[in-house]
Amino acid sequence: MILLDGKRIATKIKDELKAEISSLSQKPKLSVILVGEDPASQVYVGHKEKACAQIGMESEVIRLSASSSQDELEQLIEKLNSDSKTHAILLQLPLPKPLDAFSAIEKISPSKDADCLTAYNQGLLALGRPLVKPCTPAGVIEMLKAKDIDIAGKEAVVVGRSNIVGKPMAQLLLNENATVTICHSKTKDLKAHCLKADILVAAAGIPHLIDSSFIKEGASVVDVGIHRQEGKLIGDVNPLAMDEKAFALSPVPGGVGPMTIAGLLKNTLLLFEAGKLN
Ligand code: ADP
Repeated sequence: MILLDGKRIATKIKDELKAEISSLSQKPKLSVILVGEDPASQVYVGHKEKACAQIGMESEVIRLSASSSQDELEQLIEKLNSDSKTHAILLQLPLPKPLDAFSAIEKISPSKDADCLTAYNQGLLALGRPLVKPCTPAGVIEMLKAKDIDIAGKEAVVVGRSNIVGKPMAQLLLNENATVTICHSKTKDLKAHCLKADILVAAAGIPHLIDSSFIKEGASVVDVGIHRQEGKLIGDVNPLAMDEKAFALSPVPGGVGPMTIAGLLKNTLLLFEAGKLN
């Protein structure tokens, strides 16, 4: 079985970005907004900061307390929209209750939308003409391509329909000419759908939802889930006996996670370059 070793693929992408950035006199800058104290979000934001530093990209993390108002958050976004030193804005999700993510995201200028979250950028994606691509789904596609796994004409099944992963994942697979099925919490007979998949992307947020009995012989399986259980990180896919069925599998950790960060760095550079043209 092939290991979809996101960590290694992401390292290569970061090396390329680093070389590109070293030739720039002005450096691209990513501004990350972190609201509240969610431990997982703090870890992810830390990884993003570190990755920026590794490739010579500037970054800033702006922390707001969990009790911040919607107005405070949206004013900060507006400020970053007009800050000429910020080229990309990432609002770390989820937001603490009762903050409204949809309303806040819509304040992000599409020209600084680091994770393709705004309605405008999602619309471009749906039309097959994305400005930036959503980081996690784009990372999944890159990972498959890095291992020469063909997507065109394949049966692709996406488990999950969230706005950040499932839906844009399906869109990107469609743009790559796969035949795409989206499964969700109301899907009847999830296993029957998964068993048809040449490419299976698990993004349901349920630990070990998918086991080897869901896998068609020769399928490529990408695990987007990440859960901490008894001090260990596990995914939506149970890797037990996967090697008997799957052609390829992404590990957790070290699979999709590093690819998401590489995608974020790529988008920041892309938005920086696009901004120079305006
Ligand atoms: P993520 O951010 O990883 O996409 P979310 O928790 O936002 O995770 O979304 C989980 C998605 O997974 C939802 O779209 C939901 O419909 C889907 N889902 C949840 N349970 C199941 C299930 N048993 N089978 C298929 N899909 C599921």
